[in-house]
Amino acid sequence: METNSNLDLSLLPPTNDHSSVVICPVCGLDCTHLKSVLTEQKDRGVLVTSTGTHEIDVNHSGRGSAVSINFFCESGHHFALRFQFHKGSVFAYCPIGEEFNPAEGTPDELWRD
Ligand SMILES: [Zn+2]
Repeated sequence: METNSNLDLSLLPPTNDHSSVVICPVCGLDCTHLKSVLTEQKDRGVLVTSTGTHEIDVNHSGRGSAVSINFFCESGHHFALRFQFHKGSVFAYCPIGEEFNPAEGTPDELWRD
C-alpha cells in the first residue's frame, strides 16, 4: 500500500457482543470492507486476496516482520492497520493509500457473506 500519511484507526463504540465497527480514518464512514491481508518477512510476503494466497516479493522498510490488514471504504479510501515488530515491541499504525472512484466499481475484497 502506498503510504500518503498516517491517521489513527477509528472504531465505533463496542456493541453488546464486544465487537466494534471499523470506520474509515479519512472520512469517518462506517461502511468499510476487508480487502486483503499481507505478512512481510524481510523481502518476502504472503498476500491473501479474494483470488487466494500469493507469495510475493516485498520492498520491506526498516523494521522487523509486519502484518497489514488492508481495508477500503465505500467513499473511495484505502487504508490499513499495520503491525510491525522492532526491538521487543510491536508498533501499530494506519497508513493511508490511494483513493479510488466508487462510481467506477469497488476493489476486490475478501469473501463476505
Ligand atoms: Zn473513507
